[in-house]
Amino acid sequence: MIEIIHKDLLARIARFRTKSGIVDTPAFIPVVHPTKELITPKRMYHEFDCKILITNAYLLSKSQKKGKIHDILDFPGSIMTDSGAYQLLIYGDVSTTPNQIIQFQEEIETDIAVILDIPTGGKATYNEAQFTVEETLRRAKASISHRKESDILWVGPIQGGTYPDLVATSAQQISKLDFSIYAIGSPTQLMEQYQFNKLVDLILSAKNNIPFDKPVHLFGAGHPLIFPLIVALGCDIFDSAAYALFAKHDRILSAEGTYRLAEIQDEFCTCPSCSQYTIAEMKQLEKKKRVQVLAEHNLHICQNEIKRIRQAIREGRLWRLVESRLSSHPALVDAMYKLHSSQSFIEQSSPITKKRALYITSSWSFLQPEVYRHRKRIENYSSPEPRRNTLLLFSVPTSSPYHSSKEYERFRNQVRKVAPDYFKSAETLFISPVFGLVPLELTNYYPLAQNMVPQNDIFNLESVIIEQLKSYLSTNPQFTRIYGIFGQSDNWKSFTRRCRQLFKQLKKNFILSTSDFSKESLNTIIPKLISKIK
Ligand SMILES: [Zn+2]
Repeated sequence: MIEIIHKDLLARIARFRTKSGIVDTPAFIPVVHPTKELITPKRMYHEFDCKILITNAYLLSKSQKKGKIHDILDFPGSIMTDSGAYQLLIYGDVSTTPNQIIQFQEEIETDIAVILDIPTGGKATYNEAQFTVEETLRRAKASISHRKESDILWVGPIQGGTYPDLVATSAQQISKLDFSIYAIGSPTQLMEQYQFNKLVDLILSAKNNIPFDKPVHLFGAGHPLIFPLIVALGCDIFDSAAYALFAKHDRILSAEGTYRLAEIQDEFCTCPSCSQYTIAEMKQLEKKKRVQVLAEHNLHICQNEIKRIRQAIREGRLWRLVESRLSSHPALVDAMYKLHSSQSFIEQSSPITKKRALYITSSWSFLQPEVYRHRKRIENYSSPEPRRNTLLLFSVPTSSPYHSSKEYERFRNQVRKVAPDYFKSAETLFISPVFGLVPLELTNYYPLAQNMVPQNDIFNLESVIIEQLKSYLSTNPQFTRIYGIFGQSDNWKSFTRRCRQLFKQLKKNFILSTSDFSKESLNTIIPKLISKIK
């Protein structure tokens, strides 16, 4: 159903086919009012690169316009129609039935159609939310026999709102039914209230329970600030009218947040719409024209952010993009903590290897699936040479791959001169402030061979490494002698104390040298090492 081209985190660059063409994902789908559009669909297609849009079938059914949807909107791309469920959420009632709206969407020959579900909304009690899940499922089942054989892609809505267990049940049940696209409902209020942590819960509870090969839609997500996050969580397409609604209130979208036109003193954007005016001229435009220009700006910004996200996925650097947005709002930081608790799920979908080096630029970078994956691998890791009884702990070199770094090469060459057989009995573990223990034989694998880590040891991973050592020595009890070559900075002092404690407890013979890895320094410590282990 969906052809996946690139993956990163839970995101994918993919494509699927509607009867009107190909939809490339991730895609932002602008909401177009069926009778009073701000930007014509035709312009959206040609000038804004919007190959898919969404309009409201319910509003259209109540209007005077008749005919096929592509003719009414004059749009050559793919058209998705919503059913009136949004009106149900806002006004509490709609004057149509589930079957009427199915039939209407078939008559207008939409490409992607949504059943008349019951949105949970952000304020529902548990019982109310449960009702929306059950009633939506009942309508989803009933819809199948009412649908005519056609090439319309039907959307199965997932409800449950802020109750992850209900969202999970809803997703499990709906994915047993015949739908082409699954759509996650009720994120709008969470986003308006900046409850991004709950948004992460909502999306992951759904994603965990739907087939990987179907496109996933998120209803009502239109602020570019959260695009990288929702795409990283696996939402392929998402729709919103925010670009137009914000414009009506003189509000300007940006990838970092929202601004009011009145507050802006200097030209702020070079998009085709903004660049026609100075900021003073823009403020002087009559209201209708100003709304139009701002809506165009907002749509350009949304589309540009999608392009940036696509590039990041291609490069395997979506995490960095999400991370770079954190400073825009504290609620995004809460969302990152939520991501952290789902590392294992995210890791499973992330590529094993990437072309670009892994960057560590902040403590958030530690949560990347590649770091998690390595640390998981080290749990219960068995040495490939069980006959070795000496363990060499080598402080992390300044370049990767560690085994060919100048520090390690210099050390190895000098040891070989004095004791050619040394490495037959000694196993090397590098100590990285990011990955923890790194066995020599793994240093060729991504990202251990390709990573950029700040040289100033600013991260405190001490407890993690001590735990890893404990578990490593329990899996590999043959190591009776441990030789440590640590750096000379203060960071190593407290770590050394904890190593001594641990090795004493485990009755291991521990010898320590500190070194700056210069020839002179190694010349002094190597004879000591060789004599002690002979
Ligand atoms: Zn602009």
